[in-house]
Amino acid sequence: MKAEDELAERARKLFAGPIDFLKSAPSLQFLPDPTAPEVAFAGRSNVGKSSLLNALTNRNGLARTSNTPGRTQELNFFDVGKPLRIRLVDMPGYGFAEAPKDMVKRWRFLINDYLRGRAVLKRALVLVDARHGLKPVDHEVMDMLDAAAVSYHLVLTKADKVKRTALEAVLQETVDQAAKHPAAHPTIFTTSSETGSGMPELRTAILEATE
Ligand code: GDP
Repeated sequence: MKAEDELAERARKLFAGPIDFLKSAPSLQFLPDPTAPEVAFAGRSNVGKSSLLNALTNRNGLARTSNTPGRTQELNFFDVGKPLRIRLVDMPGYGFAEAPKDMVKRWRFLINDYLRGRAVLKRALVLVDARHGLKPVDHEVMDMLDAAAVSYHLVLTKADKVKRTALEAVLQETVDQAAKHPAAHPTIFTTSSETGSGMPELRTAILEATE
């Protein structure tokens, strides 16, 4: 078997195996011990982050959406593999139009502290709705990741909702924007939690980032 096929097969098996919710951390003192490499998921509220986590792990209801701003200000940790191999980190959604100022501030502190202080964090995935492309608030988060030197992939979500030509245009635009961010990985994933497209590739990239 070719090396990349072998990696893809190991990724498939890993994500088909045990995956469990570990804990929620509303602040840094509640972070789990850094005993496994971590991959963190970020994105604007409603981008499809919970759906993507569920599709990626083949589980319904592993990650839940909370549509109430203020109830989403915590990092959720999921353990992948027994023995533990990777930890997935669901970061609180951002970009609520109606979010109070102090909540936005709290979000920034929590995320910045986590990003800067976490040696086991190997990669972040920044989710972007394929219908809308990158918004100014996404660029702010990408700037935070650049400053913290955390390497990240941009991931287009809800690809099934967009026609092929429009999808190609948004992908090209996203590639161009990513090139301006030092920590953005040039590979951008196109996914749909509805059809499952892009999931095997994303699983493989996650495993690769942690090896
Ligand atoms: P979150 O707030 O980022 O966790 O977003 P959710 O996962 O809750 O998704 C927000 C909405 O988008 C829900 O109504 C989902 O059913 C829908 N959604 C998420 N992913 C997809 C997708 O890949 N395709 C389609 N058609 N809808 C999606």
